[in-house]
Order: sequence, then C-alpha cells, then structure tokens
Amino acid sequence: MSAKPKLRSIWVFHLNTGSCNGCDIEIIDVLTPFYDVERFGIKLVGSPRHAHAMLVSGPLTRQAYYGAKMAIKAMPPEPRIIVAIGTCTCSGGIFYNGYPVYRRPESGREGNEYPRFGGINELLKDLRDEGVKVGPVIYIPGCPPRPEEIIYGIAQLVGLVEKKLSYQHYTEETSPFRLPEMPIEERIRLTLREKLRHVVGYLDRDAILEDFMKLVEKAEKSENPKEELRKLVEEYNSKQKDMRIVFCMKLLESEYWRVKDAISAGKEFVYWI
Ligand code: SF4
Repeated sequence: MSAKPKLRSIWVFHLNTGSCNGCDIEIIDVLTPFYDVERFGIKLVGSPRHAHAMLVSGPLTRQAYYGAKMAIKAMPPEPRIIVAIGTCTCSGGIFYNGYPVYRRPESGREGNEYPRFGGINELLKDLRDEGVKVGPVIYIPGCPPRPEEIIYGIAQLVGLVEKKLSYQHYTEETSPFRLPEMPIEERIRLTLREKLRHVVGYLDRDAILEDFMKLVEKAEKSENPKEELRKLVEEYNSKQKDMRIVFCMKLLESEYWRVKDAISAGKEFVYWI
C-alpha cells in the first residue's frame, strides 16, 4: 500500500512480536547517529500512546499476540501506521508454519503455499474485523533487512521517494518451484555432508567426507562396489586411532547406500538438507 501521510515528524514505537533479535539490531542501527534516521524526523518514543507509527519485528508468536493487539489499539487512531520490518513480520518468514506462530484459523498451517501467512498481517486482519482502523502498512522484507532498506522504507513512508515495486500474486503457473537438478553423485555428497554436520559439526565434516568419497570412487570401479566399499572402510578404520572418525566412516557407508538405493528406486525427499 502506498503511504504518504502528511507528517513532517513521525514518532515511532518499536514492538518485538517474537523476533530472533536480528531485525531489532538493525532497527536500533538506523536510530543510532551513524544512520541517523532522526534527520528524516523519525523519533523513537517509549509508549505506543505517543506513536504515529509502530515498527514491528518478528513472526507474531501466540504469546506476543494480545500484547501486540493492545499496543496497536493504544496508538492514536490517526494515522496508526504499521511498518513491518523483516521477512518474519511480513509473512511469518522461516517460522510461518511453526506452532508458536499465530495464524488465523482460516489461514491453515500446512504446506508451502504462497502468499505465506503469519506475521503482523494476521493480527491486522483481526483488528480490521473488529472494526479497529489501521493506517497504511509498509512492508520491509529481508532477514534481516539492511539499515539502508529500512531507511528506504521509511523514506517512502514520509513521502521522500516513490515505491518502485508493485504487488504480484504468486501462483504455481507464474513461477513454478522446482528443485535444482544436480548430478546424482552431488546430491548424495550433499546429503552425506549434512548428515555429518549433525555428528561432527561444521569444522571436521569436509575432511572426513573427502576421505570417504575417495574410497567410494575406488569401490565404484570394482565388480561388487558394496563389498569393496565395506573392505576399504574397514581397512581405513583399522589405521584410525580416533573412534569418532571410525564411527563417522561406518555411518557414511550405510548412509551412502541408503541414499543411493533410494535415488535408484526413484524415491524422493531423501535429502537431509
Ligand atoms: S526476519 Fe530474520 S532476522 Fe528478522 S526476526 Fe526473522 S529470522 Fe530474525
């Protein structure tokens, strides 16, 4: 929605509705002297009763719902501007179908449907249903949005710049989502890599995986790759002093065949990532 309220100075209240703190740090950033959003007449206030605009962050958890509702209702009825900062606030973000996130009953909870439901939008619909007037809403997506993007959104709010993008409704026809096709080996490697992350973390996984893939390469050239890989892993493990590496190699061996067999059988969703 285009918003050009005739205000020379806007008092804002910052409301966290369950954010991970990433967006909040960026909001604080634009208020500090480096970005100095006060030069546009934006002033942070300590109570929603004094605020023209509410800077909201977070996906709107169930716990935050009633507090957020009271805070918005406490704002003066005009202009009651909402600035949704961050992807979570715009659409629920990565938390959009999580249990703790508030969604209107008719919004449903399952699936990857677009537009995604969640965030302050769900509360605004409730408020409008109750007859509460809510003014213009500015959406500033990003996880978190950079300070420049927040300033750009605010510049739109005070009418300093025009909006460049327009709303587009997403459908499967306009933009079908497909998983990128990769060589099967790469798919297996990435799945194993992710599996290893759970066991040994980010730091060691690549070195272990590299060693394992060398054994796979050798085994796949033989007549009986399964048998050969088992032998090669045993041989490799017999030289190891660290039991964690021994465990990882055995795990990778069984995981390799599990993923490979599933892909050969045409099964989907064998990814860990
Ligand atoms: S948009 Fe990203 S940074 Fe902001 S609250 Fe959500 S997860 Fe955190």
